Amino acid sequence: MSRPIVATINQQALRHNLTVVRQAAPASRVWSVVKANAYGHGIRRVWQNLAETDGFALLNMEEAILLREQGWKKPILLLEGFFHAEDLQLIDRYRLTTSVHSNWQIQALAQVQLSAPIDIYVKVNSGMNRLGFRPEQVNAAWQALRALPNVGEMTLMAHFADAENPQGIIEPMKRIELAAEGLNCPRSLSNSAATLWHPEAHFDWVRPGIVLYGASPSGNWQDIASTGLKPVMTLTSEIIGIQQLQAGDGVGYGYRYHASAAQRIGVVACGYADGYPRHAPTGTPVSVNGVMTRTVGAISMDMIMIDLEPCPQAGIGSKVELWGEQVKIDDVAKAAGTVGYELMCALAPRVPVEII
Ligand SMILES: *Cc1c(COP(=O)(O)O)cnc(C)c1O
Repeated sequence: MSRPIVATINQQALRHNLTVVRQAAPASRVWSVVKANAYGHGIRRVWQNLAETDGFALLNMEEAILLREQGWKKPILLLEGFFHAEDLQLIDRYRLTTSVHSNWQIQALAQVQLSAPIDIYVKVNSGMNRLGFRPEQVNAAWQALRALPNVGEMTLMAHFADAENPQGIIEPMKRIELAAEGLNCPRSLSNSAATLWHPEAHFDWVRPGIVLYGASPSGNWQDIASTGLKPVMTLTSEIIGIQQLQAGDGVGYGYRYHASAAQRIGVVACGYADGYPRHAPTGTPVSVNGVMTRTVGAISMDMIMIDLEPCPQAGIGSKVELWGEQVKIDDVAKAAGTVGYELMCALAPRVPVEII
């Protein structure tokens, strides 16, 4: 028998979340962001559930080619553009849309021989200072690119650093407006947070990622509770051992937890080598047979100990939810000082995945 841990991917939830995105941005086309192996869900497993999308956005050539080989004919956007001039051959062959964020890429596009023009996204640095041309450089870059026979359709693209904040896109939007002056071009600006909370930034194409997988871009589950978004990934396992503690007994590596009274705890077959966050402290939420409880002590590589006082019926073989429908991944992430994005992406290859 295999170890009882399993990650379940709910295809229905994925389809549903795309409809929630459509309702949030009814006038925009949607790039479904499936980078990082569809945020850990497995791009090969999930892309067909998002096939109603207008395009897929990702950043790794292998994932783009995989989608083409699986039969996806509609657009694919390379969010980080091409990394080397040679990549343009594959972009041409697989008909990918690429972002252009640096002058060397303009040179590369000027020099390469392509079978047909490729569509590009010209990236503006909205103030995040990650990728992109500064607003005052955009016009020159745009004109240089527009003049190239290798360049087809052009869209202005930017990304927000703080769109979960109600005031968070005011300054970036000013920079984007400055960049767009006189260009009269299509735009793609909005990540999940802006898709949900800043309709004024929707424009032609939105680029939601995390909301498709049913977690909150702000890290707070409450912020998306009323949207109807559903968690796609559920990580479950079972209790494989029970310990009856006496007052003063320590638990796990470093004895980071001590029982203050007699207490029953369960040992769960899940640890940081499965992708559970090692920094999750005592008190991180978990559920057993549907009853909410908490972790106790340090997270081990392969095991977690949990408090069974709220669930006296639980025993060996009881089903434990680490995150999913009941235990929100945002709440686990917050307890561990991270975000749902990281937990999803960190799901370990050793965890079997079931599709429902
Ligand atoms: C990852 C990413 C997105 C999606 O972000 P979410 O917060 O997951 O919605 C959109 N645009 C770019 C450029 C990205 O890198």
